[in-house]
Amino acid sequence: MSEDDTPKVGAADTAPPPPQGAPGAKPPLSKERRLQARRRFMRTILLGGGVFGAALSGFLPVAYAQKKRLRPPGALDEKDFLASCIKCGQCVQVCPVNAIKLADLADGFGVGVPYIEAREQACDFSCDAVQCILACPTGALTYKKPAYMSVRPGAKLAEKPILLAKEKDPEPTLNLTERIGVARLTRPESCLAMQGKGFKGQARGPDFKGELRYMSVDRWRPIKVADHPYDVELCDLCVQACPIKGAISLETVFAPDGSQRKTPVVHEPCVGCGVCEMICPTEPASIEVIPGEGWRT
Ligand code: SF4
Ligand code: SF4
Repeated sequence: MSEDDTPKVGAADTAPPPPQGAPGAKPPLSKERRLQARRRFMRTILLGGGVFGAALSGFLPVAYAQKKRLRPPGALDEKDFLASCIKCGQCVQVCPVNAIKLADLADGFGVGVPYIEAREQACDFSCDAVQCILACPTGALTYKKPAYMSVRPGAKLAEKPILLAKEKDPEPTLNLTERIGVARLTRPESCLAMQGKGFKGQARGPDFKGELRYMSVDRWRPIKVADHPYDVELCDLCVQACPIKGAISLETVFAPDGSQRKTPVVHEPCVGCGVCEMICPTEPASIEVIPGEGWRT
């Protein structure tokens, strides 16, 4: 076979398109057809983006779900809470200290579901009656679970917690039957009381926005923590600030070297409100609420 007889592979691919009107040439698209094609293309892009976004929003919740959040008082156990909360935000509206926030996408499971970041603003029960429970229209927050719902181990309170602010009232209890978490001295090495140190000044510094109801200042109105400086020879801020009777006290313990120390000890009535975590002047807090934790002896 001569060189001229060799088939030119790909020649047709590189050949310029036949001129319009020539045999085999595609007729030009009308303006209408061009617009339709463009719309189809845009629809495909948007649809693809939507499917990808939906898949991502389904993935993110699972990815972030590992982080446990502190829920408002009276919240059902996590699975039931997420299923029954309709994200109406009623609880957010009634909280006098704005302790309740609504989760955004990055918070994972339960976008729009209420939670409390205790270190920023804990629930100090300054509404006296757990208004968020009263406001909840679905029972996602409830004083008492329906009988068919199980109680997670350690969540049940031995007695209804007594609110110190109402101790002298005919009805001093909070009517809560389960706790939302438990406070733990997670960093005993940084606890000022454990080190035998006092504390003087604003517990969380001058810029801290958190509020607390101080019985010695105003029984009915919470004030800024920054407006209530402390001066104590041995730090007991967590004990002073706790709104629940008998939930925490400063106790004597023996250090490994045999010396006596004072340390905050959490007791069974702790409901997990997080006030101790909010007020602790060490950075990070020496005492923290573990969300969803039950009471262990
Ligand atoms: S010990 Fe802390 S978390 Fe427990 S009730 Fe008192 S302030 Fe709230
Ligand atoms: S407030 Fe913090 S530093 Fe002070 S005693 Fe309580 S845990 Fe310790």
